[in-house]
Amino acid sequence: MFGQLFSTRSSVRRRLASGDQLEVATHIGVVRVDVRISPRARRLALRIHPSDDTPEVVVPTRAARAQVEDFLTANAGWLAERLAAQPPKVAFAPGSVIPFRGNPTTLEHASLTGSGVRREGDRILVAGDAGLFDRKIRRWLAAEALGTIAPERDRFAASLDRVAGRIRITDPKSRWGSCSADGTMTFSWRLILAPPAVLTYVVAHECAHLIELNHSVRFWRVVDRLCPSSLGERDWLKRNGAKLLRYGV
Ligand SMILES: [Zn+2]
Repeated sequence: MFGQLFSTRSSVRRRLASGDQLEVATHIGVVRVDVRISPRARRLALRIHPSDDTPEVVVPTRAARAQVEDFLTANAGWLAERLAAQPPKVAFAPGSVIPFRGNPTTLEHASLTGSGVRREGDRILVAGDAGLFDRKIRRWLAAEALGTIAPERDRFAASLDRVAGRIRITDPKSRWGSCSADGTMTFSWRLILAPPAVLTYVVAHECAHLIELNHSVRFWRVVDRLCPSSLGERDWLKRNGAKLLRYGV
């Protein structure tokens, strides 16, 4: 009975809406794709966010459902390849190895006194309630990120003769840092997983926005002044940034 209900043309063929999911048959199995209707989109686009294994199809408002389905079928091979190439997810759990300041570091639950988190060489030890392991690691990494970023940010801002604003440490999905017109800066705590030179480059980049709130040639000249030879760090982020989004998810 239910099969019949769902196979009626009116229920299956209704217009797509944001939040819908479509299923695509690929050679690695059936893949679910989130639908997002975008009035600004000019054409269909398929993307897989590094932190998320559910792909998204962006659909212009006027696109017909059949058009979207054809598009997904035509791109099924690409979709399967990209999903298979996603870096592995690493949980914040005892035994996991995460990069800390770029160095492989093992997470351990340890019977330390108290409930704190402590780093000893290439190990991060977490005491107390095992149920809070993930949350404690996350909070500790964010504190380490802030403790590293804040002094570097202040140093760069001072060298540019600018007053530094607030710093927020968050977990944005698609950027490592940002700088608003009032000088408030936001950074991803995941930068503490990257090699120190990469973190420094991102801080220099955001501080250069205190002078130029754009990505003009003049902006990049300021970045070069603060952080000479940042090409290597930018390249590192391009090649490895997606991996950083796979920890603790
Ligand atoms: Zn920028």
